[in-house]
Amino acid sequence: MTVTDTVAVAPPRRLQWMTARITGVIDETPRVRTLALDVPDWPGHKAGQHVDVRLTAEDGYQAQRSYSLASAPGSARLELTIEMLPDGEVSSYLAGEARVGDTFEMRGPIGGYFVWSDALDGPLFLVGGGSGIVPLMAMLRQRAASASRTPATLLYSSRTLSDIIYRDELDRLAADGSDLTVVHTLTREKPAGWSGQTRRIDRAMLEQAAFPPSASPRIFICGPTSLVESVARGLRDLGHATQRIKTERFGPSGK
Ligand SMILES: Cc1cc2nc3c(=O)[nH]c(=O)nc-3n(C[C@H](O)[C@H](O)[C@H](O)COP(=O)(O)OP(=O)(O)OC[C@H]3O[C@@H](n4cnc5c(N)ncnc54)[C@H](O)[C@@H]3O)c2cc1C
Repeated sequence: MTVTDTVAVAPPRRLQWMTARITGVIDETPRVRTLALDVPDWPGHKAGQHVDVRLTAEDGYQAQRSYSLASAPGSARLELTIEMLPDGEVSSYLAGEARVGDTFEMRGPIGGYFVWSDALDGPLFLVGGGSGIVPLMAMLRQRAASASRTPATLLYSSRTLSDIIYRDELDRLAADGSDLTVVHTLTREKPAGWSGQTRRIDRAMLEQAAFPPSASPRIFICGPTSLVESVARGLRDLGHATQRIKTERFGPSGK
């Protein structure tokens, strides 16, 4: 080979665009849907990783967004859970118009930082807001699938009762005797008979729900940017080590 020869080097497998075909659609809440996908030759993923989704319009216009993988590693179905945002370019298709049989481009899995496996030590403290529950759910699903007894707590903020994503499954997981505690807080309503919290996550709520810093919990926080930043700050103020706190910001607003 001379130096002028060109060699076609394929990009790493996980960065190649693949075709995902929708095989199932589940309405989780009035604004949130789960899409079950068939992706031939899916390489597998870790709990907490995400994919890029690329949509192409008939005129060639393309839009690309990130979505967390909701399903546990190794589960039979690959799932994304998408919240429809008002005028959202990509989410209004995925969580609204998409139908079984539709296809779109996807690449991944992506991310090696915001990931959990049951091989990691320490209790698990998860804090989610809205659709920020998605990668945390992949972690809880993996924890359940591996019959892990790692103590775990999820603190989950939703606007209203009907906005809670995966509510029944979370109830089941919290009742399975595996040392999982689920604490819900609702920021926009207090339904009759509600026994959970009814305000935004604050320092007092974190102090009550979190494992103490002396237990060195592994902490994952995901949701709107403002929630993620205030929760991370609150946990640092309570004495949790910065390197035990991992964050993922989904979007600009905490409204
Ligand atoms: C690593 C990663 C993982 C993600 N995983 C998920 C997931 O599992 N499920 C999910 O539903 N979303 C997830 N998101 C958010 C997703 O990538 C998109 O930002 C979201 O779907 C909006 O895209 P859109 O094209 O519909 O809205 P756009 O057309 O881009 O924006 C519409 C309006 O919504 C605002 N906006 C954009 N994103 C958000 C947001 N996240 N929250 C509030 N307002 C917003 C914009 O400022 C604009 O005003 C993830 C983001 C990241 C970075």
